[in-house]
Amino acid sequence: MSNEDPKLYSNFDYQSALNVQKGVQQPDQVNNSILEKMRARKKPEPTVEELVSGITHGDRTMLSRAITLVESSLHTHQRKAQEVIERCLPYSGKSVRLGITGVPGAGKSTTIEALGKYLTQHNHKVAVLAIDPSSERSKGSILGDKTRMEELSVDPNAFIRPSPSAGSLGGVARKTREIIVLCEAAGFDVVIVETVGVGQSEVAAHSMVDFFLLLQLANQGDELQGIKRGIMEMADMISINKCDLDRTKAELSATQYRNALHLFPMPDSGWTVKVTLHSAYTLEGVSDLWTNVMEYVTFTKANGYFYQKRQQQNLRILKETIENGLRDRFYNAPGMEERMEQVSQDILNNKISAYQAADMLLGLDSQA
Ligand code: GDP
Repeated sequence: MSNEDPKLYSNFDYQSALNVQKGVQQPDQVNNSILEKMRARKKPEPTVEELVSGITHGDRTMLSRAITLVESSLHTHQRKAQEVIERCLPYSGKSVRLGITGVPGAGKSTTIEALGKYLTQHNHKVAVLAIDPSSERSKGSILGDKTRMEELSVDPNAFIRPSPSAGSLGGVARKTREIIVLCEAAGFDVVIVETVGVGQSEVAAHSMVDFFLLLQLANQGDELQGIKRGIMEMADMISINKCDLDRTKAELSATQYRNALHLFPMPDSGWTVKVTLHSAYTLEGVSDLWTNVMEYVTFTKANGYFYQKRQQQNLRILKETIENGLRDRFYNAPGMEERMEQVSQDILNNKISAYQAADMLLGLDSQA
């Protein structure tokens, strides 16, 4: 019972021991002098210099802290992150960037765990990132929960980072690109970007990797797997996972995919897309996945497509960044919210056409 407002309880007998007795003053539960010492010991935020030096010397803690800055929405963090990225850029670009997609359940995590372990056993350093715009770490995203990659996550030569949390796909993609730069500067020579095969996120993933692997399951039509033709067209390799379950079906599926691919035009890379089988369980075919990636890299470096594609990706980043910047500047302009509301009303009341209103807001209208 509260005793803050005695009038409220004036009709009651107010002799409860709880109200009369103040209780005994308890000593502090925490020794303040220890607290002071702990505070003094807490490391200050690393400087840009320290972050860059740590990252380029392969310090994982510094890498994680820089990634946290990239992911932060605080303006000061963003500015610091941009400085770190700029200074890491000269050390980046030397990895093989591999995109992996497939519907949930296709075995992406299990395959990445198997392939990642194979790679670290062969002296590679592997970073695993994810693009999942629906993710919000606390709410359990599709790809965010990497605890499934149990062995890889404790491998000192692997670095696993869940998707930057929910936001626009453009925002998540940009952050992932920046994280790739940081991981490469930290010496990771294979960067795997995982994405779920059910939307626009693989287009984003495709725009930042060198090689795109599509995982499929045996005996399921494209419709069933929700894989659109566009995603098959982006693939540099298709592998039917779980071939340990039913080999005949897996082989039949592979033949169907090969036939379907024959109808597609030759990709710009000049590369013939392979369809293979593998099992992330028995590890059959897992090393072949990597062999195929390396063959592709050799082939496209020889014909120049590898470098051309990376340049195209850079130009795309330029365009996207400008477009996002313009959009942000427009909507964040002083008074824009009220003006938008006003013209929206005018449109609803048929006072002005939507085109005219848009021109006016964009400053294209001479009367604006
Ligand atoms: P994701 O949603 O695409 O990441 O798929 P997961 O990697 O989580 O795999 C989905 C399920 O398929 C899990 O229960 C895995 O244990 C299982 N799985 C993955 N790879 C294989 C495989 O090669 N063979 C068999 N039999 N099961 C597999």
